Amino acid sequence: MSAACLSRQVVVIGSANLDLTVTVSRLPREGETILGGELLLSNGGKGANQAVAALKAGAEVRLMAKIGRDPFGDRICRDLVAAGLPAEGLLRDESAPTGVALIVVDRHGRNQIAVAPGSNQLLLPAAIEQYEPVLAHGTVMLVQLEIPIVTVERALQFAKAREMMTILNPAPASPLSDDLLRHVDLLTPNETEAETLTGIAVSDLPSAATAAKALLLRGPQAVIVTLGPQGALLCTASVVRHLSAIPVEVVDTTAAGDAFNGALAAALAGKPWADMLGTDRLRVLEDAVRFANAAGALTTTKRGAQESLPTKADIERLLAAS
Ligand code: ADP
Repeated sequence: MSAACLSRQVVVIGSANLDLTVTVSRLPREGETILGGELLLSNGGKGANQAVAALKAGAEVRLMAKIGRDPFGDRICRDLVAAGLPAEGLLRDESAPTGVALIVVDRHGRNQIAVAPGSNQLLLPAAIEQYEPVLAHGTVMLVQLEIPIVTVERALQFAKAREMMTILNPAPASPLSDDLLRHVDLLTPNETEAETLTGIAVSDLPSAATAAKALLLRGPQAVIVTLGPQGALLCTASVVRHLSAIPVEVVDTTAAGDAFNGALAAALAGKPWADMLGTDRLRVLEDAVRFANAAGALTTTKRGAQESLPTKADIERLLAAS
């Protein structure tokens, strides 16, 4: 086993946003203004959410993100450090405001969201080289698509060159090149993202399996399609396995995917992946997906994003009870 495998470090390179949310009785039509309830400020961005999810799920985590030098950015940095993320990777930038998501939600939980990516667009590949000593200790690299695609590509190449496991959560949905997918070990689309990546309409288990198999041919060792209340479908070259969701009282599904990906990375960090043979890898992957399903389920039982993410103890308790 190599020395790196003894650490449980997850490296996340991704976005951090401030979410500004107004709850309204119904979503506005084009050109319409609607008076809503109180403005809710909360920390978000898929990178930051997944980093906090992995941390709470028991991993040691480094987040690299670009955050504006403004009051929103101060708030995000303060909260992420208080949550337990090292300040080192939280890069501040004078030249763009912190990323903001403007969210309008109706009383049924339907939403409209517009994102101003701001400083997230300035997270460029050079930052990865610059912070190499900080990032090189990772055993798992977890990335999403809310930062420039050139940075996603560089992060995956950087990780593969250091024998890290790479997980790409291809969200928000976007077509991807084969060249990029070749550097991905685990690809974790939801149904919409699987459809965008393959052109195959994904609405049930058979169509999810068809899309996952098409994606496997493009490079990843495993594709895990998350299916909301149906759990997740794990697909490798040798198996297609459906792992059911854990039934819970759903309050708000925000960040379920982020909880799933963070917990998946945490469950896989510290595993000697490179040294494992096929059957061991499959067993480890299945256990990690069960752990991630429990994290996703627990997140839906509470309102909000980062504040609704479960701890390792919460996840293990739910798994033991189900
Ligand atoms: P996303 O938020 O990216 O669209 P999903 O909706 O597929 O992702 O949810 C991610 C994971 O969260 C699912 O694979 C599942 O494990 C869990 N989950 C989501 N919704 C529910 C639900 N209603 N009940 C139980 N688990 C859920």
